Amino acid sequence: MSGSALFDTFARLPLSFEQGEGSWLITADGTRYLDFAAGIAVNSLGHGHPHLVAALTEQANKLWHVSNLYEIPGQSRLGARLVEHSFADKVFFTNSGAEALECAIKTARRYHYVNGQESRFRVITFEGAFHGRTLATIAAGGQKKYLEGFGPKVEGFDQIPFGDLQAVEKAITPDTAAILMEPIQGESGIRVPPAQFVRGLRDLCDKHGVLLIFDEVQTGIGRTGKLFAYEWTGVTPDIATIAKGIGGGFPLGACLATEEAAKGMTPGVHGTTFGGNPLAMAVGNAVLDVILEPGFLEEVARKGLLLKQGLAAIADEFPQVVEEIRGTGLLLGIRCKFPPSALQQTMRDEKILGAPAGDNVLRLLPPLNVTDEDIQEGLERIHRAVEALASAPAMTASAKV
Ligand SMILES: *Cc1c(COP(=O)(O)O)cnc(C)c1O
Repeated sequence: MSGSALFDTFARLPLSFEQGEGSWLITADGTRYLDFAAGIAVNSLGHGHPHLVAALTEQANKLWHVSNLYEIPGQSRLGARLVEHSFADKVFFTNSGAEALECAIKTARRYHYVNGQESRFRVITFEGAFHGRTLATIAAGGQKKYLEGFGPKVEGFDQIPFGDLQAVEKAITPDTAAILMEPIQGESGIRVPPAQFVRGLRDLCDKHGVLLIFDEVQTGIGRTGKLFAYEWTGVTPDIATIAKGIGGGFPLGACLATEEAAKGMTPGVHGTTFGGNPLAMAVGNAVLDVILEPGFLEEVARKGLLLKQGLAAIADEFPQVVEEIRGTGLLLGIRCKFPPSALQQTMRDEKILGAPAGDNVLRLLPPLNVTDEDIQEGLERIHRAVEALASAPAMTASAKV
């Protein structure tokens, strides 16, 4: 038996924190780490944001939870605000990203079912995708390492190379219900598809009566400098999922849909116990209060550029370590010449946190309200971390395996 009472599913670093302040995490002994991982894009407004703390404590003093048997005013309000600022007409609240995806997949299948096309349940997804860890979302993601040992893969997902429009057209059959994609692939290494590919997908969907689902669990709620990443592409989906950033650290997700796409989701066909409860709604509304303030998203874009330019200079200086800088807004990736664990380690020595991803990428996802000073401080620390790797050839060599 291992020493811990917890499932051994996480390869945890030997590091824990007691407190957070803005873009900083603080250990029990007072050591301060610059948090450019932000709970993997979850702490969208950093740690201990006064408006979020006030919203949560105020609601905690009034009412924590009622079931969805009743009207929940905070839910109607957050739903209406998401609708006002997106393509959507309808919203279903969940507790997590994977649950939002489950709702999206069910919504797409029900749409065709109520149209009298029961056999139309297949969903086209992309290689490198990540949509969560439930049985359906590991089938959607299609990654062997997440599917292995969990019995038969949930039926109905067809996987296509990311960016290959011809392969998508070939894969569409009369049984195709939807195409599901991340507007920028997060877990597989900040992979940005050409806008032309995304527009091509929309055209194919329109031509074949297929629904387009965007998984914006990582990219949504301001991360890329727009409220939703699809706003960069010039097309809108029929269904979208959000989670991570919308709760600012409180577990919260949502499935958004047009009225037409949501028409099969009638009373009783789907549900949730916790989804959209008053505590979550108070925090979600408070997050939107800040992110929708005039000029906030422009600032995210400006800060993203500032960080990206600084990273590009580091990449130029150390081509033996850094292959490329990727991403948009504050969803950035340092693509290394070797697995990102080596850079993660030297960055940790410099007391700055990033989040590893696929394709040799270390993600930087600072809070959206990170200050210019903290960006500058972060760049100096990353510079030292990369420099340490550049002057330690043994380390880069050993990281290659
Ligand atoms: C994190 C993530 C998910 C899963 O969210 P959970 O809250 O962990 O279930 C789904 N899709 C994308 C794009 C994600 O980044």
